[in-house]
Amino acid sequence: MLQVVKGRMLQAMHKGLSRQTHAQANVRMLPTYICSTPDGTEKGDLLVVELCQSHVRTMWVTLLGDGNQSPQVMYKIFSMPGDIMQGKGEALFDFIAQCVRQFLAGISSPQHRLPLGFVFPFSCRHTRLDKAELISWSKGFSCSDVEGKDIVQLLQSAINKQELYHVDVVALMNDTVGTMMTCSMAGKPCEVALVVGTGTNSCFMAMAQQVEMAEETSGQMCVSTEWGCFGDDGTLSDILTPYDQCVDEESSNPGEKRFEKLVSSLYLGEIVRHVLTALAAEKALFIGSNVAVLRTKGVLKIQQVLEIIDNEEGMAEARRALEALGLRPSERDCCRVQQICQAVVSRAATLCAAGLAAILSHMCQSQELKRLVVNVGVDSELYRGHTRFGEILQSVTELLAPECMATLLPSIDGTGWGAAMVTAVALRLAAQRHEVDQVLAPLRLSRADLQRVQALMRQEMELGLGWESNANASVRMLPTYVCGTPNGTEQGEFLVLDLGGTNFRVLLVRMAKDGVHMASKIYVIPTTITQGTGEVLFDHIIECIMDFQLKHNLTEQVLPLGFTFSFPCQQLGLDKAVLLSWTKGFSASGCVGQDVVQLLQEAAQRKQHLGLKVVAVVNDTVGTMMSCGYDDPKCEIGLIVGTGTNACYMEEMQNVGAVEGEQGRMCINMEWGAFGDNGCLDDIFTDFDRLVDEKTINAGKQRFEKLISGMYLGEIVRHILLALVEKQLLFRGKPCPKLQIKGIFQTKFLSAIEIDGLALRQVRAILQDLELQASLEDSVLVREVCQTVSLRAAQLCAAGLAAVVEKMRENRGLAQLAVTVGVDGTLYKMHPW
Ligand code: ADP
Repeated sequence: MLQVVKGRMLQAMHKGLSRQTHAQANVRMLPTYICSTPDGTEKGDLLVVELCQSHVRTMWVTLLGDGNQSPQVMYKIFSMPGDIMQGKGEALFDFIAQCVRQFLAGISSPQHRLPLGFVFPFSCRHTRLDKAELISWSKGFSCSDVEGKDIVQLLQSAINKQELYHVDVVALMNDTVGTMMTCSMAGKPCEVALVVGTGTNSCFMAMAQQVEMAEETSGQMCVSTEWGCFGDDGTLSDILTPYDQCVDEESSNPGEKRFEKLVSSLYLGEIVRHVLTALAAEKALFIGSNVAVLRTKGVLKIQQVLEIIDNEEGMAEARRALEALGLRPSERDCCRVQQICQAVVSRAATLCAAGLAAILSHMCQSQELKRLVVNVGVDSELYRGHTRFGEILQSVTELLAPECMATLLPSIDGTGWGAAMVTAVALRLAAQRHEVDQVLAPLRLSRADLQRVQALMRQEMELGLGWESNANASVRMLPTYVCGTPNGTEQGEFLVLDLGGTNFRVLLVRMAKDGVHMASKIYVIPTTITQGTGEVLFDHIIECIMDFQLKHNLTEQVLPLGFTFSFPCQQLGLDKAVLLSWTKGFSASGCVGQDVVQLLQEAAQRKQHLGLKVVAVVNDTVGTMMSCGYDDPKCEIGLIVGTGTNACYMEEMQNVGAVEGEQGRMCINMEWGAFGDNGCLDDIFTDFDRLVDEKTINAGKQRFEKLISGMYLGEIVRHILLALVEKQLLFRGKPCPKLQIKGIFQTKFLSAIEIDGLALRQVRAILQDLELQASLEDSVLVREVCQTVSLRAAQLCAAGLAAVVEKMRENRGLAQLAVTVGVDGTLYKMHPW
């Protein structure tokens, strides 16, 4: 049955969390906008005001940033005149503000800004940590003109009226949250709290994304479950006993707070009383006594119930309590009363355990953990000093949520200390957020920035196309001698080489009526070869071709060969391409300035391979455009976002300064990776980009590419993470030796980390591999860094592409251009966004 109750609680919690069903939910799961627990670095002077049942407590806390080892605390209690609780709202807040003034006057406080945390133990609808409307009064309070109003504002106005302008209400929380934070001080965070007193409630750190009523989407947020109302829709009717029904009917709010009426101390004595009444009526108890006294509400106090269940003194206490009521209990009566009290308290403990187990299982699941280890703060008169409640709570929780290991921590200091922590944490987070934003700000581009990049790209394109201006352009706009796109009828059998990135491939492609057939093999080229001599590189390529031809029985045939060579080349014809510079980590000597077809032929001769007929050298962008064009005739742009980035498009012949002829179009290999090499993008580059650039083999070159492509994004992220660690904003500032290693943070990690959903497990696993112990907050920050870097890359790429399509549209004198872009590259294909 307890498993069933746990299941129902989970359902009720989901209902409260979901935006769609929140309005009808009994368990309201109210967001608190408390997004972190203390980490011990908090420091400063804080003021706390706690509104309690019959008094106001003010507190001065000084934190030293020493792990909260030795906080200095002063407090004062002001009892509240009885009429205030039902009087005017204004009078209540004026009274509280006067308490604050008197308290501060007594300790000659400094006049610097004093942040105040307010413990307000009622259900509130928060929209910020310092903005919360009272939903409804309870606990005997019913001040006018407060429900529906912002409590922070009411208190701040009252404080201002006292001319305490330096006191700033920065946080409002209820007592449950206060308890959680109070228990969080021992260096280990406490992420769940349970209050069982005259009322009952719980709170826990939920994944913010799942708290749909709040706008936050990353990190955690403490949710106040408001579980006292669990069962108000009838979900608990099958466990309610006739005694519970009697208690409910006699209460001031029949039908409401059904769960609270099963577990909280206000009702347990009453439940016992109704059981005794029923048993006496059946003559099972108190034979010969006048039991009329048991009809009086409230004659059995919770304190008595708790003393009766105490094994040693319990029997005597039962006798004392019953005799005080004028009953004459037998030994057996006392024994049975003790059993009844135990049953009622045990049931309360097991029901609390079912609720707690629901919270723990929810947390474990939403954090994608196999096992959750967590501290639970408990504030309860049933728990303190009475081991039975605690023992049952602990053992039944373990039984119902075996995947979780909860350590129950009794809250001793009340909630005021916790409120100080909430306030301090809020200030720490605000300061950290400010610092993180400062670090990331240079990477966040505005629309105007992007429009400027677009305009600059356009300008560089024009320079690159012009015969005379070409030398000054960073975008080289190389003619490809490819003058048309396919129409889909092309046929034949071809050999293809693909060199220019991570892999070298040899392919056999057959284009026939029934489609395109391909066979290919990847050959790894070690860095010793890509960065060795040209002769060795091209010899290796010929060896790979020979191997491929052997494997595919092609040694007797001479097939036309297409060579995808993805480095900047000055093309002198379709089959003649002079290498202008290496990029993407290649640096083989003796190649720049040479015709790569010639280099290939020479290597073939050295290897005595005679059947090589190179028909075309193309760049991979061109290859991409042409292969997409085979299926879609509107494809007139090719884009690569892989190891590097580049684009090509169909330009009007009359605009191509380097090639004679005015008719038709020619594909232009933009070589846009080098955009910015002339300094035109300097103000976009951040310190992180400069650090990445300095450590490359082509420093100062391919500047646009270094903002966008797979070879660099991981490195940019790595440098940002190092800066955040240095500023103590990440991994608690602990040094991370592995993160110092170049290339250790791979671009594919960005894809894994940014995947839709929380993907926290991936983030943690990746960081763990780097020997980084990431807290949840660390994971969220790492994710934000990755997102910022990826977003900038995609936006810059888009700005470049916008320049291209605008030029094509203008070239053709169109109001609107419909064009397809063929895109290739693992970064483009694999990155989730
Ligand atoms: P190339 O451009 O060299 O032909 P690719 O298109 O395969 O090769 O791109 C390889 C690049 O893609 C690598 O630099 C790597 O950083 C990046 N990459 C590999 N896997 C992923 C991934 N899952 N998400 C994003 N980028 C990736």
